[in-house]
Amino acid sequence: MKKISIILISFILNFSHSQSIDNQISDIEEKLISWRHDFHKNPELSNREFRTSEVIAKHLESLGIEVSRNVGVNGVVGILKGNKKGKVVGLRADMDALPITENNNLPFMSINNGVMHACGHDSHMAILMATAEILSKNRDFDGTVKFIFQGAEEGPPPGEEGGARMMIKEGVLKNPDVDAIFGLHISSLLPMNKVYYKPKGFFASSSRFTIKVLGSQTHGGTPWLGIDPIVITAQIINSIQTIISRESELTKEPAVISFGKVEGGNRFNIIPSEVNLTGTIRSLDYGMRDYIKKRIIELSEGITTSFGGKAIVEIEDGADITYNDPYMMDKMLPSLRSSAGNENVILSNAKTIAEDYAYYLNEIPGFLFELGGYNTNELRKAPSHHTPDFFIDDSAMLLGVKVMTNLALDFLKSE
Ligand SMILES: [Zn+2]
Ligand SMILES: [Zn+2]
Repeated sequence: MKKISIILISFILNFSHSQSIDNQISDIEEKLISWRHDFHKNPELSNREFRTSEVIAKHLESLGIEVSRNVGVNGVVGILKGNKKGKVVGLRADMDALPITENNNLPFMSINNGVMHACGHDSHMAILMATAEILSKNRDFDGTVKFIFQGAEEGPPPGEEGGARMMIKEGVLKNPDVDAIFGLHISSLLPMNKVYYKPKGFFASSSRFTIKVLGSQTHGGTPWLGIDPIVITAQIINSIQTIISRESELTKEPAVISFGKVEGGNRFNIIPSEVNLTGTIRSLDYGMRDYIKKRIIELSEGITTSFGGKAIVEIEDGADITYNDPYMMDKMLPSLRSSAGNENVILSNAKTIAEDYAYYLNEIPGFLFELGGYNTNELRKAPSHHTPDFFIDDSAMLLGVKVMTNLALDFLKSE
């Protein structure tokens, strides 16, 4: 009997505790939306998030959170200590916008010409600011929460360092050492009120390749006097597509090769001396990625040489694979389900987009999940990320706050 009543009391205590946090989360919605509108209206490019980082730092300071500024250029890191010692959990949001002119007619549309939050990072920041506010008002947890606001996720400008890699280099995961990290990406293509997860490879690695095809210039009327790099290029493009369609084991993981730019020649009757190609490789398995890279070099060089020309291939790795730790995913799945409801936590396919969040997951366990941001009751079409029509529904964000808050608390509570 005694045991039963103790269980009952602790159940009631637990329940009332989470009820009160749930109420606080609902109460913060107005602020959450106004933060997001403010960021959306004032977007800043990668490594130029000056105003953005100031807004975040001031908010965290107003909550009594210990703040470090300018971590990895404009990153802001907040440390919130609970009442007792314990584990350390990291929560991450990215801060940068894109060089796109907004096409949405919103009361809070971008006032910075040619710059737009077209990937939803404005909502990520607002969600994490709200999460920080809720947690700072409920410090009766054991352990520490580290809020990681990171700039330049879309990639720093050429010649500059930035993003997750730079923040890690500057010690964002140390002192106190972060035991696990959680992050979300909102999606304009997925319905709101739903959370999408996938253990292991979730977002793809991205590598950029350039191929310089060198031939020999001649008159367009006498091609036999030169070596035509345009015809060689046509063979290279077609052959490289067979790396995916004929040589990659696509039942294991997906992979993509896309050419984004083909450049060469300047007149209808001149065969040029060179053609330059550039494109991207997306993959969810490092073995497959290495194979694709090797074959791009072999095919480009082999084909060009056989025609008497010369190919120079350069491949540069961008983001790594966003590899969600399967053990951590399993452990925290009940937390996702209790926040969103069983039926709203959905096992996702892998995605061939990339995220520099991957670098945190190279260092410590954790995961990235996707949050639906598309209001299916609206008539507007679900717009793709990185377009002038990109749009996220405000009411999609509250679930993000709930999931992030509970992930932090549930992880700190866990064995
Ligand atoms: Zn993006
Ligand atoms: Zn993004």
